[in-house]
Amino acid sequence: MSRDSLKKTRRLVVKVGSQLTCGQGLEVGRLKAIAKQLAQLRREGRECLLVTSGAVALGYKRLGLAERPTTLRLKQASAAAGQVALMVGWEKALEAYGLKAAQILLTAEDLADRARFLNAKNTFATLIELGAIPVVNENDTVAVAELKVGDNDTLGSLVASLCEADLFINLTDQDGLFEADPKERPEAAQIFEIAKVTPEILALAGGSGPLGTGGMFTKVQAAGRLAERGLPSIIANGLTRDILLRLLAGERLGTYFPPLAKRRPAYKHWLAFAARPKGKLLVDAGAALALQEKGKSLLPGGILAVEGLFSAGDAVAISLVGQEPFGVGLVNYSAPEVGQILGLSSQQIESRLGYSHSDEIIHRDNLVVFGDPPKENLS
Ligand code: GLU
Repeated sequence: MSRDSLKKTRRLVVKVGSQLTCGQGLEVGRLKAIAKQLAQLRREGRECLLVTSGAVALGYKRLGLAERPTTLRLKQASAAAGQVALMVGWEKALEAYGLKAAQILLTAEDLADRARFLNAKNTFATLIELGAIPVVNENDTVAVAELKVGDNDTLGSLVASLCEADLFINLTDQDGLFEADPKERPEAAQIFEIAKVTPEILALAGGSGPLGTGGMFTKVQAAGRLAERGLPSIIANGLTRDILLRLLAGERLGTYFPPLAKRRPAYKHWLAFAARPKGKLLVDAGAALALQEKGKSLLPGGILAVEGLFSAGDAVAISLVGQEPFGVGLVNYSAPEVGQILGLSSQQIESRLGYSHSDEIIHRDNLVVFGDPPKENLS
């Protein structure tokens, strides 16, 4: 998918990083510049959502703390104080261009729970229908470490997926990704397009270069996940004049991540990245091959061991022994049940348990394998 096709974008999610929203204080001029562009995009008939950072960065100063806090307690307090300033900023900036802001604060739990996720999706749909601009941030004040999405790059990509956006634009204070640190190597070239986020690209993004500063790792990771789901993203500089309008006119700015596949169902993206696995199934090489290459369901025969305590219907990770998970699925049996039937054939489930709700431990409709999208999905 070429950049030219971005002209047709109907719904877009724009994430604005703390580097942009917050300098010495709230960067009113920058917010207004973005609001002005959103108003123009709306006039062109496009639907826009914002994901904004800056609550912690603005809040700690308002609370008189000398530096950005590192403890959860102070971060939560800062976010509470800063979110008000951030939203007042967006409210005023959007209002100046005739747009209405509508705040949505989300936690990882809201996204992990299917019912709450769908509720959020409905609220987004209603706000868009009513012509408001949803302005999203993580609900930092209530999210404790293990329940956090953690960063707004990931949150932004989940929102883009949830609301079925056609494009995710991640605005930061850098032009995009470079082949090396331009501070050390001024001749380093900007990368205008990343066809696929490979482990090498992620390593580059997480390294010490410019790609490593300003949280490039999570930006690239989020873009890679959306590409797998079939959604394009761009990392671009929010300080560049009319950046959003120019990107949507197909101009070659920022770093573009074209979609890798035709659009995958939102449900599968939710399963892969928003649902929180409650346990893990360790499988043998034959089962891994059947799931990864052949699009099959997971049967009890291929399971070697079960970890964690989960109920039927929960999300669980799937991996080979000693390796990182290669997929996630919703199980048809609880952990104790899987413990009793692993290694058996599906026909033996009933004689072992006294009942059988299904032949599969995880049906392929409820299963996502990470990495390359299924071959038949390639456009
Ligand atoms: N939610 C955090 C804030 O508003 C920002 C997280 C991030 O920058 O990724 O301060």
